[in-house]
Amino acid sequence: MYFIDAILPIPLKQAFTYSVNKDEAAFLKQGMRVAIPFGKSKVYTGIVYQVHDQAPVGYETKSIDHILDEEPIITAIQIKHWEWLANYYMCSLGEVIKAALPSAFLLESETIIKLSSQNFQDEASLTDDEFVLYEALQHQSSIHINDARSILDRKNIVSVIQKLLDKNIIEVEETVYEQYTPKLKRYIKLASEYTSEESLRELLDSLNRAHKQREVLMHLFMLNTQTKKPISSTTLQKKSEASAATLKALIDKGILEEYFIQQDRVAFLGEASSEIKTLNEAQSVAYQEIKTSFKTNDTVLLHGVTSSGKTEIYVRLIEEAISKGKQVLYMLPEIALTTQLISRLQKYFGEKISVYHSKFSVNERVEVWNNVLTEKPKAQIVIGARSSLFLPFKNLGLIIVDEEHEPSFKQYSPAPRYNARDSAIVLANFQNTKLLMGSATPSLESYHNAKTGKFGLVTLKKRFGNVLMPEIELVDVKEKNRKKQMTGHFSDRLLEEMHEVLKNGEQIILFQNRRGFSPVVECTTCGVSPQCPNCDVSLTFHQHRNQLRCHYCGYNMAMMQSCIACGSETLDTKGFGTEQIETELKTLFPNHKVARMDQDTTKGKNSYSKLIEALENEEIDILVGTQMLAKGLDFRNISLVGVMNADNLLNFPDFRAHERSFQLLQQVSGRAGRTQKRGKVLIQTYNPYHQILKQVSVNDYEGMYKEQLEERYNYKYPPFFRTIKIVFKDKNLARVQKASAWFGQALEMQFKENVLGPEPPPVGRIKNKYIINLLVKIPKNQSLDKTKKYIENVQRSFNSLKDFSSVRVNIDVDNY
Ligand code: ADP
Ligand code: ZN
Ligand code: ZN
Repeated sequence: MYFIDAILPIPLKQAFTYSVNKDEAAFLKQGMRVAIPFGKSKVYTGIVYQVHDQAPVGYETKSIDHILDEEPIITAIQIKHWEWLANYYMCSLGEVIKAALPSAFLLESETIIKLSSQNFQDEASLTDDEFVLYEALQHQSSIHINDARSILDRKNIVSVIQKLLDKNIIEVEETVYEQYTPKLKRYIKLASEYTSEESLRELLDSLNRAHKQREVLMHLFMLNTQTKKPISSTTLQKKSEASAATLKALIDKGILEEYFIQQDRVAFLGEASSEIKTLNEAQSVAYQEIKTSFKTNDTVLLHGVTSSGKTEIYVRLIEEAISKGKQVLYMLPEIALTTQLISRLQKYFGEKISVYHSKFSVNERVEVWNNVLTEKPKAQIVIGARSSLFLPFKNLGLIIVDEEHEPSFKQYSPAPRYNARDSAIVLANFQNTKLLMGSATPSLESYHNAKTGKFGLVTLKKRFGNVLMPEIELVDVKEKNRKKQMTGHFSDRLLEEMHEVLKNGEQIILFQNRRGFSPVVECTTCGVSPQCPNCDVSLTFHQHRNQLRCHYCGYNMAMMQSCIACGSETLDTKGFGTEQIETELKTLFPNHKVARMDQDTTKGKNSYSKLIEALENEEIDILVGTQMLAKGLDFRNISLVGVMNADNLLNFPDFRAHERSFQLLQQVSGRAGRTQKRGKVLIQTYNPYHQILKQVSVNDYEGMYKEQLEERYNYKYPPFFRTIKIVFKDKNLARVQKASAWFGQALEMQFKENVLGPEPPPVGRIKNKYIINLLVKIPKNQSLDKTKKYIENVQRSFNSLKDFSSVRVNIDVDNY
């Protein structure tokens, strides 16, 4: 008897044992996929964890359905790393696998529709929808349920399918099917019987009256003499200006033949075109220090001010690693925001670069995965967002975590709620390689690790080319209001500088950390402001669409003319977002090009890169946007950055709010004056004496670090204490209160005053679910493992309580 333990992509923690025959046992290896029956009729993809001969006690094993891979698609190191993740972030290995594998690898049973065998005649009796589906099935043997949906162009197709089933026209089947389909490109060649000159002449003569077809053939010959490469049908069609029908006619006649070649979807066609830059003195020193530091440290933090040339140092290290035949992983917080960096690196490394992130289609992701697994040169350098951490590297020589301070390295939901930066450190360790993290504004945690000797630390204090750091000026909005020196949301100082900059033909970036026109609409008569029916937040007014929208659940309604409560027409808006700034700019600077960059304007696939390009080409004079603007962009001609209102950043109720404000403001400021001329930054605020703003204005990272560290120490937060957040959600407020109180009491028995809450977050209800949080703080001398075990035990007892069975509990380790 042989068995396998398989891991299923589901939140259950145990492994599942299935029986296999002798041949299967000999063939199967850890990391291969198998299709396995689960529950009544479901088929899942499982990953083989181990093959053994120990029959499980207490239950009869089922046998596997079939084997899906010839070779493991997951390496032993990956499994080890994923087990660490599951353990550390308190979730199941199945959940990690679900996050880690491109979904195309995880087949589930799917519903397929087929025509039933009986001959059906009475087509007239069918409704339109029924007929469309019926007809589609005449052309293909089966249709997947999702395709049926798009054929009928409606969501709910169950009733249509049910009718067809009732009439015995179709039958439904559950099958496992492979989602990944290789992309095939169609090529055309002449059928072999026409390759002799004689037969060719005859052929052309015979086509004397079919002008178009003849034309196609003539072009095919021409192309054949020009190139030895295969000729694609699109090329042929374009060159000969023929229609698809003409081509088809030739194929039908057997004169032309079509054939297909598999193609990678993500292909970079350019070539490496630039030499790697020679490092300047400061960079060379830093580079040497990093190398030296790597001798004694596995992780090194490169703290270099914005525009100090960190990227060029990474480039040198990457080059070194790949010249030794190693793979390199370059992680970024948000890949959508890094078009600039990708094209920059492509200039150096050409097609050795693969990009990997969740916005890619499943097929594209599978291709990158396979290229990494088989160590293809084209995937030698992977640039990716946090999920690139899960790729099957075989021969990793370096990991770079750029902008390591970015909160988006942490996944909030769903589990695994992992921090990709921290998990990368563990990965580097398992891969026996080094990790370099870089930032102009390191996270307190990382800087503390560097200062206390856990990481190496290398510093770059000057900008490249000795460009000065921008001059930062704080503008007191309260005073400006009092002196009537505000025009809309613009102070006279900001306007002055803007006019000056525009006069010199330079560009401006304006930062406002809110999208929409204004976050609150209020009736000045009765004070009522429209709220989201599903969440405890007020609706944001979006002027362009004349809508009120909820930024938490997407709920929207048309903007009202008068108050819903009292009918008065005295509606007023409070606060302002990017849209309002854009509107004001258009009146203030009617002769200049204004554009906006926020979630609302960057929904389309390429809209973000288009905006970046327009800014690079100086087709935009003033760009207003949210924190998207802060991330690693490098523009030549921006000489002024304006922060419209720094206060709502600072007032955010979170222990990291001040650190974050500092980072965000420094990063936005860093976009100014990256070339010879010194840039200028104006920060508008009601509170110019705020310590953080002062520190921002004089680039005092050290000062910020020391002060915040002290606060963290006093209030028992990271890096001195670890935190685990436990989030409870339920439709019923009383129930979620009771549940969290029960859980909280159980925790307090053990952890005493180190349990905070239960307490609702600032937005206490989202999508109709009430939310309550508990926070467990863990001192350095308390075992993390034992703490987690204790929490798990409490959770187990909790799960057995019927009253709370509807309450969702999410555990978030090192929460952000
Ligand atoms: P950072 O990553 O620290 O923000 P970058 O690497 O983007 O800084 O460098 C800032 C600018 O200086 C870029 O435009 C870059 O091309 C240029 N630069 C950096 N190092 C060099 C170098 N050694 N030679 C020429 N240009 C450089
Ligand atoms: Zn009213
Ligand atoms: Zn809502």
